[in-house]
Amino acid sequence: MKVLKFGGTSVGSPENMRAVMRIITDGKKKTVVLSAMSGTTNSLVEIAGQLYNNNQKAALDLVDQLEKKYEKVVDELLTTAELKQKGQAVIEEVFTLLRSFDPQSFTEKEEKVIVAQGELISTQLFTLLMKENGFKTELLPALDFMRIDAEKAADLPLTRKKIAAVMGAVPPADYYITQGFICRNADGEIDNLQRGGSDYSASLIGAALDSEEIQIWTDIDGFHNNDPRYVSNTRKIEQLSFNEAAELAYFGARILHPQTVFPARVQNIPVRLKNTMNPADSGTLITAKSDGTGIKAVAAKDGITAIKIRSGRMLMAYGFLKKVFEVFERYKTPIDMISTSEVAVSLTIDTTKHLSAIREELHHFGDVEVDENMSIVCIVGDIIREESGFASRVFHALDGIPIRMISYGGSRYNISVLVPTAHKKMTLQALSDNLLNGTETH
Ligand code: ASP
Ligand code: MG
Repeated sequence: MKVLKFGGTSVGSPENMRAVMRIITDGKKKTVVLSAMSGTTNSLVEIAGQLYNNNQKAALDLVDQLEKKYEKVVDELLTTAELKQKGQAVIEEVFTLLRSFDPQSFTEKEEKVIVAQGELISTQLFTLLMKENGFKTELLPALDFMRIDAEKAADLPLTRKKIAAVMGAVPPADYYITQGFICRNADGEIDNLQRGGSDYSASLIGAALDSEEIQIWTDIDGFHNNDPRYVSNTRKIEQLSFNEAAELAYFGARILHPQTVFPARVQNIPVRLKNTMNPADSGTLITAKSDGTGIKAVAAKDGITAIKIRSGRMLMAYGFLKKVFEVFERYKTPIDMISTSEVAVSLTIDTTKHLSAIREELHHFGDVEVDENMSIVCIVGDIIREESGFASRVFHALDGIPIRMISYGGSRYNISVLVPTAHKKMTLQALSDNLLNGTETH
């Protein structure tokens, strides 16, 4: 059985929901994972934020606005009086809940209940639409099977056991609909797989059901070999290996949640990225197979901060890097790139939440220099080790661009350079012109 996931834009209007219905109803049994309608999770986060800040009035105003939107959705989506009434009942239940929170006792726990509502609404309304159109459809409540453990990592063995039971408990159907993003934690409370986590849900469900293929449907036709927002001559990538996709997903998080590849890779389930607006397109297929060597794509990530620590104490000493890393560990700040010389180490982070505290602590080790507004540009493919001359071609392409850091050899699938964000577009274009659209492409 295939697992198909549709994102927020794909279910973002009654018209789009009907397009999803047309795509999935080919008579083949499948499980369909849905996101919240686009914009809803953001609104719910905002409502929770107002409750945190004790602004009940502002929160209730936002709830009213969102409810109006959904009343219109129900009215346009469903046709018969009976189903319109069922749709209204779904909305009423959710919005009564959203109005019930007391700002005085509002914690993270309540916030998670609020942000879960988007997927709960979209899946219930979509199931009504399917039933109205005569399709044998059942809703599988993700809160009854999707689990994370005490470390907040997905608990696949438990999810596998529970989803089988949940599926066995509903009448046999052709189409099973479920929620992306939401789950329960080790204490049984409502939780989630982090923003954008519906892709990850689909991959976990695919793995739990031993699915033959996991399809991620969005509003673009798969991974491109460069960022179409900045570079004009990009091409869709037909095929990627799990390893290449894992490197790329971190940078193209807008397209695919970075963790999505892992459950699929473990069970060797192909992942296909598809475009809801252009279903005939084959999309991008991600499998264990590598489509030959060569550079497949470049991608960039903004909002990077580079930190350099220069210290005489680093020279010929051991244990220095450990002490530096411990500072980042204490502030739960992940390090992305790292590059060392005999007397200095440079590294990058993508969150500045604890930057000033980190900076202060690092100061005990030596001089600290911080550069903000940087971008990591990564070049992905299966080339790095095999081909001599690769590095020189990359450097040649980047002639004239002020490179702040380089990471090469960390994996054979990736080379990363750090450049000021002001030079990102130029960097991406230069790589496209010299490496992707020249003779090196296959
Ligand atoms: N609705 C959630 C979000 O907006 C999850 C998802 O769409 O993947 O982050
Ligand atoms: Mg997404």
